[in-house]
Amino acid sequence: MNLVPENDLELTDEEMHLYSRQILLEGWDLDAQEKLKLANVLIVGCGGIGCTVAELLARAGVGKITLIDADHIEISNLQRQIAFTQSDIGFYKSEILAKRLVQINPHIRVEHHVAKLDETNAISLVSEQDLVLDGCDNFTTRYLVNQICKQLNVALISASAIGFQGQLFMVEGDSACYNCLFPKEQHNNESLRCADSGVLSTTPNVMASLQAHHALLYLGLNRMPLLQKLLLWDGLTMKQRILAFERDQNCSDCQARSTLES
Ligand SMILES: [Zn+2]
Repeated sequence: MNLVPENDLELTDEEMHLYSRQILLEGWDLDAQEKLKLANVLIVGCGGIGCTVAELLARAGVGKITLIDADHIEISNLQRQIAFTQSDIGFYKSEILAKRLVQINPHIRVEHHVAKLDETNAISLVSEQDLVLDGCDNFTTRYLVNQICKQLNVALISASAIGFQGQLFMVEGDSACYNCLFPKEQHNNESLRCADSGVLSTTPNVMASLQAHHALLYLGLNRMPLLQKLLLWDGLTMKQRILAFERDQNCSDCQARSTLES
């Protein structure tokens, strides 16, 4: 049996001290902080977005963080991937990031996988989560994460950044999904990814900070300001727009979920 002792669910004195600035916050409280401690979060991709969202959630006190990424660290990553240093070049991203998170906050649990999220591991990884944070760099993974989160009814907050532009949205329960917004049948442009397109060092970090902020709102307060809404951030004008979108009745990912329910 895998029972967690009841006192493990409560915050220790040291944790109360560590998170005191949050617990003092009006609109946030002990209850919200304890919800964070109980939360299981999967971060897909340990690049520019993954590094920052992972670090912010570790500092905020999310109890269990799982990282997945197959890549190793290259010199061109250091411009924006804030967890890594020169001496980390050649090592696996998920492994180095996991070590850093535990150094930052020894009270949380961190698991890492040196792998690409694909059909063989997605269901087992996503099914144990309360929330998935997508920060991957390619559309194949982005559609798969959306599909599996829909199928398993696990909340998803997805962030992306290319050039000076960023996007952020949330999918939960019966909401519209990424495939409703951008149907994959109409999408075959796999070429747009950070690896081959330029990106300013700050852009993924702005989007990851917004993603981490939304994750805390969801996990601690059950607030979902970006549910069925697409946030667009333009890094040249600094303008932010939020566009509502609806469920597509022909969406294969949403239909698969409806079939499971009936
Ligand atoms: Zn859909």
